[in-house]
Amino acid sequence: MKSNIKDKLQKIDKDHYTLLIDIGKVSKEEGLKSYLVGGMVRDLLLGFDNLDIDIVVENSAKLLAEKLVKKFPNCELSAKHDRFHTAKVIFNVNGEKIPIDLASSREEIYEHPAALPKVSVSDLKRDLYRRDFTINALAVSILPEDFGEIVDLFDGLLDLKEKKIRILHELSFIDDPTRIIRAGRFACKLGFEIEENTKRLLKEAIDSRQFDNLIEKIRGDRVKIEIRYLFNLPDIEHAVRTFFNLGIYRMISIDLESRRDVAYGGDVAYGGDVAYGGDVACGGDVACNVSTGWLIYFALIIKDLSSDRQEKIMKNLQLTADEIKIIKDGFNALNKLKEQQSVDSVIIYHELRNLSAESICIVKMLYGINNFIDEYIEKTSKIKLEITGQDLIHMGVKEGKKIGEILEQILEKKIKNASMNKNDELAEARKLI
Ligand code: ATP
Repeated sequence: MKSNIKDKLQKIDKDHYTLLIDIGKVSKEEGLKSYLVGGMVRDLLLGFDNLDIDIVVENSAKLLAEKLVKKFPNCELSAKHDRFHTAKVIFNVNGEKIPIDLASSREEIYEHPAALPKVSVSDLKRDLYRRDFTINALAVSILPEDFGEIVDLFDGLLDLKEKKIRILHELSFIDDPTRIIRAGRFACKLGFEIEENTKRLLKEAIDSRQFDNLIEKIRGDRVKIEIRYLFNLPDIEHAVRTFFNLGIYRMISIDLESRRDVAYGGDVAYGGDVAYGGDVACGGDVACNVSTGWLIYFALIIKDLSSDRQEKIMKNLQLTADEIKIIKDGFNALNKLKEQQSVDSVIIYHELRNLSAESICIVKMLYGINNFIDEYIEKTSKIKLEITGQDLIHMGVKEGKKIGEILEQILEKKIKNASMNKNDELAEARKLI
């Protein structure tokens, strides 16, 4: 692959391109060296769209941020973390806000496995060396004199070409076991192989058992972020298989060993339809969204654990109250449906009507094939009465609870007979008054 990608950069969105040029010029004026790094470089080389601009500055991101704010009236400082030597600026370009992450080139020292690292300012080489994989450790200069020049210190270009996920040093997974999940994510997302030695070290890290039940020992939010990325991938079957095959599940709980079969049982695919293809995902009111869609598969994985264990895992993984509610609502509705001898469209309606799209997906996936659930998603959830409480009041019903009860009974009739029109509804109301 080539070592200057100016031509590729010229093809990205014009405003983003101009910003890169401008930031390069200001860096030069201040005697700083700035590089585009991370996912955007990787994706540009692979031909994917990615406009998440991450810039590493040799040496002071803070200084560059201050100069940018001073020089460009449309640039504001949105965050600054002295401890991590990072800053974020936002450019307002014709009404569009373009965030840019700036970080001083830095190295990280891990004092013990999975600890949060100590961060200190260093040069570009060490900054790239602290990264997860060779394909994510490429940098591109944005200085005017060599704009677009690739810095490839670890053969990331070769690994991109050969579709390999490769760590940068032997202790990488021990320093930061979330890289195990990231290895799985990039392998699935990009269709890459985890390179042999990397695979061996990954397996050794998992087999050492030191990361078993990891979320009980360290803050679970970093693990959660990575699981969310993994379970939001479009090829969810592949993602769930990877979760089990690489042993990622052990970081959540070794009790999940018994759930291995879900990766092969077809349930995932059934859920996949729902989350990505079906009406629930696309249809207005009941749309799953990217930040919560992953919970459907997470629920599938923890479903057979005791509720105490589920509770503990969700807490350790630092799920929010809303996220926990999505999962619990799904499980509760599922249990209620399972207690019924048989279900029909009205029973399904009562159990599902107050649930979020994600909770409905959980029920659909775990209940097994059931036409009434499909019907609920496609039709029943959209059935509305044409008459209102006002009509009942005109017919002489007193304002109060009774109105809601009558409307509910008419709606149940309409669920069984969707062709009812306004006159039919009124006739039904007359019978009930
Ligand atoms: P995507 O855009 O698909 O999320 P990305 O590579 O931008 O991919 P991020 O999680 O945003 O992913 O990380 C940005 C960069 O930071 C990575 O490319 C990598 O260089 C570095 N990085 C992120 N997490 C780690 C980690 N746990 N260990 C080492 N480097 C990391």
